[in-house]
Amino acid sequence: MGKKVVVALAGNPNSGKTTIFNQLTGARQHVGNYPGVTVEVRDGQREHGGLSMKIVDLPGTYSLTAYSAEEVVARNFIIEEKPDVVVDIIDASNLERNLYLAVELLELKAPLVLAFNMSDEAKSRGYEFDTEKLSRFFGAPVVQTIGHKGIGISELLDAIASVAQNRKEGGSSPSVSYGKEIEEEIAAIIALLKKTLPPPSETDLRWLALKLLENDKEARGRFKSPELNGQIAKSASRIEKLIGDSPETAIAARRYGFISGACQESVRSTIEIRHTISDRIDAVVTNRVMAMPIFLGLMYLVFKVTFSLGRVPMAWIEKFFGWLGGAIESLWPPDSTSLVKDLLVQGVIGGVGGVLTFLPVILVLFLAIAFLEDSGYMARAAFIMDRVMHKIGLHGKSFIPLLIGFGCTVPAIMATRTLENRRDRLTTMLVAPLMSCGARLPIYALIIPAFFQERYQAAMLWTIYMIGILLAIVTAKLLRRTILKGESVPFVMELPPYRMPTFTGLAMHTWERGWLFMRKAGTIILGISILLWALTTFPRLSPNDAALFESERQAARGSNLSPDALDEKLAQIDGEEAEKALQYSAAGRCGRVIEPLLKPMGFDWKIGTALIGAIAAKEVFVAQMGVLYSVSNAEERSDTLREKLRSLYTPLTGFCIMLFCLVSAPCMATFAVTTRESGSLKWGLLQFGGLTLLAYILTIIAFQTGRLLG
Ligand code: GDP
Ligand code: MG
Repeated sequence: MGKKVVVALAGNPNSGKTTIFNQLTGARQHVGNYPGVTVEVRDGQREHGGLSMKIVDLPGTYSLTAYSAEEVVARNFIIEEKPDVVVDIIDASNLERNLYLAVELLELKAPLVLAFNMSDEAKSRGYEFDTEKLSRFFGAPVVQTIGHKGIGISELLDAIASVAQNRKEGGSSPSVSYGKEIEEEIAAIIALLKKTLPPPSETDLRWLALKLLENDKEARGRFKSPELNGQIAKSASRIEKLIGDSPETAIAARRYGFISGACQESVRSTIEIRHTISDRIDAVVTNRVMAMPIFLGLMYLVFKVTFSLGRVPMAWIEKFFGWLGGAIESLWPPDSTSLVKDLLVQGVIGGVGGVLTFLPVILVLFLAIAFLEDSGYMARAAFIMDRVMHKIGLHGKSFIPLLIGFGCTVPAIMATRTLENRRDRLTTMLVAPLMSCGARLPIYALIIPAFFQERYQAAMLWTIYMIGILLAIVTAKLLRRTILKGESVPFVMELPPYRMPTFTGLAMHTWERGWLFMRKAGTIILGISILLWALTTFPRLSPNDAALFESERQAARGSNLSPDALDEKLAQIDGEEAEKALQYSAAGRCGRVIEPLLKPMGFDWKIGTALIGAIAAKEVFVAQMGVLYSVSNAEERSDTLREKLRSLYTPLTGFCIMLFCLVSAPCMATFAVTTRESGSLKWGLLQFGGLTLLAYILTIIAFQTGRLLG
């Protein structure tokens, strides 16, 4: 007699449990009622692989939520008796529905074997299974069987024996992620459970929290704590409000999303059978041929909408800050050279106002991204990209942090926590800044309309974003080939069903990110614009030089020029003085020092000065250009910065500025987060230095080629 183990057969009704049970046990069976209820449970014996197995045929159940008496029996057996192996008998001809129980067993961390029974039926319906992939996704062996013919039974026994012997290996089992909203509520409930339950608790807390959220009668009955019940009610109403579904429905939808994702990658159907609306949409959207064009097209549409919708309120805000600047200026006498006035108008309003102008564009972009996320399309985007990501040695799950990177690199790097493999995680982190973040949008929004005609603007923006994506791919591939070599682990790319986003959900997601941006404008950017203003103002021109310009002005006034010509002459003198003053200032000197380095990229020292500011935060570039050019251009306030840029630089320089800002040194916040999340300064420095060098080389190439081609 070998070691005694208990093996439970679970599965949906009519999946062939009893048939397989008979095959496994032969005649050695025993039928009895489950203690306390009139639900029949059979058990039998089998010797295999040196083990003495007691096999139990549980009543059929669709899920582990306690509904019928049969389901309660099956569930309690698995939870309370803790069998050494749970075999989930799956009707493989009706796979997605049958896998629901498998997902729940997976979440319960049951030692699982999946028997794909009715594989003859499945085959005749045109299904082909990649059992190896499926078994990696579910973290359990998958065996194909034909119950009534006894096919696959010995393989099944081998799988059972191997799971029984290798129990509790540690190792992370796959898990379903329920999306930000639901995960937050799960975390809140777990926190309360930890306080309520006497430690150490028997059941897995995450599983219990899920069951409580699912309104499982049995689980709910176990707790009388008003605090916990209050939290559950609050969580339920939050989920309802944000997702538009009850927690039960939303949770089930995510589980089906997991299944759907796993099947998309490992089940081939030679006959297309599509049942739900989501399946029908997916038939088009994730279609091998159409997926990429649709994805790229949608991204293009997002940028198109962002620009056309964002432009109008952008003009209003621009006007408002123009008016505010003028109003504050008028508090001083017309020719005053008050430093306070300059600080307020140029430093504060010029800097922060210049950045806040882009708030509408950023909000529209975030709204569009929130819509794609909440509707379920983003999961498809990740799924579609998974194929590509595999080619560069990353997993599709890396794509989600990278997508978030379009909003802000900081949360993107934090989102890499979902990647279990450290190499995957580091690679994703290092290339995340190449996803053009919201803070770079103001730069594009300044440059693109300045140099490119309206009909090319969306295409230009799209191009910049695509360059970032392509560079990320190349860089990731390089990293995976060199310093971050190694295997990547498979995950299930979840495909939750499509749904109409709720208004509250959209508003909240847009607001969260927009607020992050505004807070930055109010703090870091305000501080930096003031600092930059000081750097561009001090040291001031010597009184001698100032007097020189003043006497030139006097001379002009004394000559008998026509009024128009005089104005022009005076403006020219002012411009020269401002330019001289800027050169003389600390910022100007820095810019000049690095100018030789910038020349090959087609940048002058003014752009260089602004680029220094951009290291602190990307959007500071815009603020800085504003400060720089209103300094050198005090008389021509009506001239917008764009017109000034257009007159001074070529579209090629404009493009090079965008390219450099896209690729170069990530902002200080990114540097800090990368260092913290990777646990080492080394990675932060590598990211910072590597990307800056890359940007430098690329921009030189772009500028020099552009010049050659004219
Ligand atoms: P249970 O409700 O899960 O216990 O399912 P049963 O074992 O009672 O089986 C339900 C029906 O499916 C029976 O008629 C079996 O003969 C049939 N069946 C079981 N396994 C297979 C199989 O692999 N292929 C086919 N075609 N039929 C099967
Ligand atoms: Mg049966």
